[in-house]
Amino acid sequence: MALTVVEDAGRGTPVVLCDRCQERIVDALEGVFSWGRPSVGDGRIVFAHEGACAEELEALYGRTTWEVLAKLPIILGVSLGMRRSGAWQAAWRSAAPELGLDGAAPWDR
Ligand SMILES: [Zn+2]
Repeated sequence: MALTVVEDAGRGTPVVLCDRCQERIVDALEGVFSWGRPSVGDGRIVFAHEGACAEELEALYGRTTWEVLAKLPIILGVSLGMRRSGAWQAAWRSAAPELGLDGAAPWDR
């Protein structure tokens, strides 16, 4: 289970676990994710630490395309209908150059 909750200072905190080593991914720029569309794969999102963990999962799941984990919250914002949120638009503008989110901003589409 890649998305889970841990107790942190008396509060529940959602975290991402690596599907290979089961350790928490604590830096979104050092984690990666990949998904298989239901039409061609299992429809599951796989999370990994970049490097050896991701390479092992490539063989297991047949995944060859990985994206930096920092992109996931931004991408999810599109499917969660956050296009009209000023805070989300600001996050997109801020993250786009570093994360290589090319093309028109999603609220312009
Ligand atoms: Zn790992």
